[in-house]
Amino acid sequence: MWTSGRNPPVPTFAAMKVTEYLAQAEDRTLVSFEILPPLKGGGMDAIFRILDPLMDFKPPFIDVTYHREEFLYVKRESGYYEKVSIRKRPGTVGICASIMHHYGVDAVPHLICGGFTREETENALIDLNFLKVQNVLALRGDSRRFEDRFNPEEGGHAFAIDLVRQISDMNHGRYLDENIRDGQKTDFCIGIAGYPEKHIEAPNMETDIQWTKAKIEAGAHFIVTQMFYDNRKYFDYVARCRAAGITVPIIPGLKPLTRMYQLNAIPRKFFVHFPEELIREASACKTDKALAELGVAWCVAQSRELRDHGVPCLHYYTMGDADTTRRVVEQLF
Ligand code: FAD
Repeated sequence: MWTSGRNPPVPTFAAMKVTEYLAQAEDRTLVSFEILPPLKGGGMDAIFRILDPLMDFKPPFIDVTYHREEFLYVKRESGYYEKVSIRKRPGTVGICASIMHHYGVDAVPHLICGGFTREETENALIDLNFLKVQNVLALRGDSRRFEDRFNPEEGGHAFAIDLVRQISDMNHGRYLDENIRDGQKTDFCIGIAGYPEKHIEAPNMETDIQWTKAKIEAGAHFIVTQMFYDNRKYFDYVARCRAAGITVPIIPGLKPLTRMYQLNAIPRKFFVHFPEELIREASACKTDKALAELGVAWCVAQSRELRDHGVPCLHYYTMGDADTTRRVVEQLF
């Protein structure tokens, strides 16, 4: 019984780094998930509805995406259009803290360059450190809608490597204010993005991999890949990274197809290609239900081959669809 006058200690869990989970698992393949914050106005119940059915698979960590503000053009009574800035899915940091508290599982917030000055980035990292978040995925972010290229915030970072450097600096106790001596050293495990089909803006794969290597040399510890539908692309990518001297874990990202519109939307938004065989089989599907059956079967086959190949972790992009993700994962774990 707790007898002191103070409140009893709240049970906590020992947060760990993604790389520690992977090392601890040795030859076992882990499973992890990525979720999106709910649209503004939604609550944590939306997140729990997605995650509750997935927690049976004991993911060691859950990624939470970050969404930059968008500009919209709203027509006013005068007939003029007004440019308004809106963040549709805020709350990444709060959701991470809530997941850690609720499930006792590590959360990996995505942190982007877009929309942040260096100072704001530093303050966000201080918040994450105080919340005992151990891992971050450091990304540049995409260009905003209606902008043809990525525009950093004034005083912000233009490339993910600069964000990695800033996090790594804090891991060494170096803050933006040079007057801070003996600043507390954070201990973030830093993930970055990798592209088995090349990042759309990179002139070629070799250049893209060299920039990825530079991010590792700047302090990143692991890579999570863009989704892909042909495992050859992932195997080739890993082989090229290894040949270039990249030794960190490369976690494959997977997303089962569930809706007909995704046949156009996924290649357009994520710059990935579907294999001919998948397109042929998808073309024969007349309904979303039929396509989801194919999507689940394809993703299970992909996952099995990757697992047999000894990948460290299978990382699923849920995109708000826990049901399909569960149908895939329950056939594997
Ligand atoms: P960078 O590493 O900066 O690379 C961008 C491009 O520039 C590449 O073509 C690269 O080859 C090149 N390059 C890199 N460094 C240099 C340099 N120093 N000089 C010149 N060229 C360089 N977006 C979000 O907004 N929120 C998210 O939560 C999110 N999560 C993601 C999760 C994963 C696993 C992945 C794969 C992507 C995610 N994205 C997210 C999308 C990501 O932000 C975009 O793909 C973005 O266009 C590039 O991000 P990056 O971190 O790879 O950028």
